[in-house]
Amino acid sequence: MNRVFRICLILVFALAPAVWAAEVHDVRLWRAPDHTRIVFDLTSPASHKLLVLDNPARIVLDITDARLKTDLAALPLADTPIARFRSGVREGTDLRVVLEMSAKVNPRSFALKANQQAGDRLVLDLYDQNGSATTATVKKSVKQPSAKRDIIIAIDAGHGGEDPGASGPKRLREKDVVLSIAKELHRLFENDAGFNPTLIRTGDYYISLRGRRELARKRQADLFVSVHADAFKRKEANGASVYALSTSGATSTAARYLAQRENAADLVGGVSLSDKDDLLAGVLADLSMTSTLDTSLQLGGRVLRKMDTIAHLHKTRVEQAGFAVLKSPDIPSILVETGFISNPTEASKLATRSYQKKMARMIHAGVKDYFLDHPPQGTLLAWQKQQGGRQYTIASGDTLSDIAQRFNVSVNDLKDHNGLNSTRIMVGQKLTIPTT
Ligand SMILES: [Zn+2]
Repeated sequence: MNRVFRICLILVFALAPAVWAAEVHDVRLWRAPDHTRIVFDLTSPASHKLLVLDNPARIVLDITDARLKTDLAALPLADTPIARFRSGVREGTDLRVVLEMSAKVNPRSFALKANQQAGDRLVLDLYDQNGSATTATVKKSVKQPSAKRDIIIAIDAGHGGEDPGASGPKRLREKDVVLSIAKELHRLFENDAGFNPTLIRTGDYYISLRGRRELARKRQADLFVSVHADAFKRKEANGASVYALSTSGATSTAARYLAQRENAADLVGGVSLSDKDDLLAGVLADLSMTSTLDTSLQLGGRVLRKMDTIAHLHKTRVEQAGFAVLKSPDIPSILVETGFISNPTEASKLATRSYQKKMARMIHAGVKDYFLDHPPQGTLLAWQKQQGGRQYTIASGDTLSDIAQRFNVSVNDLKDHNGLNSTRIMVGQKLTIPTT
């Protein structure tokens, strides 16, 4: 910066400092399994510099022409590699934020422009160097013979971290509701023999849309289920729906609207690189995609039919639109809208544990229903089907011991074969009857 310009700058500052400088009006922190994200909310764009210093380990963030208008001491530092935040003024006008570290990290920083949902932001991601938390453990069922693998269900709770998703009355946030439903769904599949669920998001942090697909692929998922509870322009809009990917246009205005909203999540969630979906354009035309899509549609239909028993349906068939999170060419993927959080009646239901559990049970039942009929090759379920294990759908009034007697098997065999922990059964539930 030359001298004359600097003098001019000081003059301008003296005249209208508030207009010139960016203010950091909020700082938010999210801990993910493999990194810590810190978001600085700015009143206007600002440039920044990142420095990594040793002895003691520090990360220094210099924000040009900026002032701190919030308290850094309130940030939740538990489980993070940050011991302490400090801040100061540098060169009279710049803001310096110093992070005193307790562990080594790989930092990355980037600026995000203001958009419809959020203002200008500066994002600082600190990736853990030990990375021990990154490898998600895929549980192996003990009961299962080694050659007969489990069906892996990737459960994706939408949004998270600085992307709250839709908000409803009484500060109800989509990201919290869907995480709770996702965890319940995970719990249900954990109790099933032949299924191995994995949560894509386990806490309150953001994962990019492409990152979600990549995690599902890494974990070799047989199915990807994304759980949402969205908002619509009209608050009267209500009902549950299931979506699959569309390779051409959207099947309805609502589908198009929601896909646009969901695809904007990366802008809110803070991802510097745009999702490179152009690469997928060719893949989408691929035949494998057609069969994946066919599975997604059939499976989505089963889930929809189960949800019909507890919720009003927004549309009675699986809708389709260009949801970025569903663009895995080889993993059947569905997006379940459990209801509209923008609708007061539905929001009050979605806020309760009992309804969240009910919703999870219906998604679980629909997915299980499909896989019992169409088990992927090499799975325990496929093997059971080959063994000629008969299926029985539970009718009202049935008890487990009745059914066991009828098919001449023991209650314990029946429970083991179907991964049941108790003798509690539900009407409509399908049991595989073991061959004796
Ligand atoms: Zn959503």
